[in-house]
Amino acid sequence: STTIRLLSSSQVITSVVSVVKELVENALDANATNVEIKLENFGFDKIEVRDNGDGIKASDTPVMGIKHYTSKINTHEDLENLETYGFRGEALGSICSVAEVHITTKTAVDDLSTQYILDASGHILSQKPSHLGQGTTVSVLKLFKNLPVRKQYYSTTKKCKEELRRIQDLMMAYGIIKPNLRIVFVHNKAVIWQKSKVSDHKMAFMSVLGTAIMSSMVPFQHQCENPEMFISGYLPKPEADSTLTSLSTSERSFLFINRRPVQYKEITKMIRLFYNRSQNKDSSRSYPVFFMNIVLPASCLDVNVTPDKTQVMIQNKESVMLAVEDILKSVYPYSEN
Ligand code: ADP
Ligand code: MG
Repeated sequence: STTIRLLSSSQVITSVVSVVKELVENALDANATNVEIKLENFGFDKIEVRDNGDGIKASDTPVMGIKHYTSKINTHEDLENLETYGFRGEALGSICSVAEVHITTKTAVDDLSTQYILDASGHILSQKPSHLGQGTTVSVLKLFKNLPVRKQYYSTTKKCKEELRRIQDLMMAYGIIKPNLRIVFVHNKAVIWQKSKVSDHKMAFMSVLGTAIMSSMVPFQHQCENPEMFISGYLPKPEADSTLTSLSTSERSFLFINRRPVQYKEITKMIRLFYNRSQNKDSSRSYPVFFMNIVLPASCLDVNVTPDKTQVMIQNKESVMLAVEDILKSVYPYSEN
């Protein structure tokens, strides 16, 4: 029923940033190299995400907004070898139950793009031809129109600005992990943040964090015993200028597992410990700027732990922790005394 749909949707779509995250991940799953995010009134009037990806096949459009429809996995095996950000078919359907959704899409074989207006259950209300190029544009209007308490939570400018920050942080993460992605983030017609296409992770890291910081960072690469496991990235040099590389929050700690931005406390804690020890600092205070990308066989990772997929479980976690420790020991040599 409508109420049940609203209840389950409001666990996936908890905020403006969760809408943006889901829409941007859909764009990346569709191989987009250009993503434009435009918000009006902090996203509560409108969130629009435009991509130049594959588009949605005409045969998929009647079901794209239906809860649990996904074109990304067919079998249980696909789930174990997951290479896409999305796999549950929950995002579009959930957004439809808490907002008004318009989708314009065109694939390489379509002559024209089509604009679809969806209803609260994700069915097509109406459609008409439109003039956009290849790719998909999703517009989300009147977010949380039926969840007044949640909307009320964002009634202060401070909360709204924090939300814009969070979106920017998340876009920086995708910008680093996808060097050839161009991202533009606009609020009320003003560009808040953007990144152009670059050739590799180093250039991406520089374009996101600025060139000044690069001389304070050291690259690392670690091939684990398991040939399918590889860890790489950038850590602050032990002698780095800590005014550049230490922050009071974790917003520039970029950790990825299989290209997915994740929260993994045990790893970030260990990085902080080694870094702060090298700086002779209390590890509870500062967070180092870093970029770490852990690549594992998809079958070793369970991302289906929380609705937003930022918490993950790793199989053979110990071997990953040991590898991270090896990296940290070589970057931050340490002797008692
Ligand atoms: P999931 O990403 O888990 O498959 P979603 O609800 O996010 O589920 O999207 C449903 C389906 O709609 C996707 O499986 C995909 O087929 C299609 N889709 C959504 N957004 C896009 C996009 N930007 N480009 C291409 N296809 C899309
Ligand atoms: Mg998705």
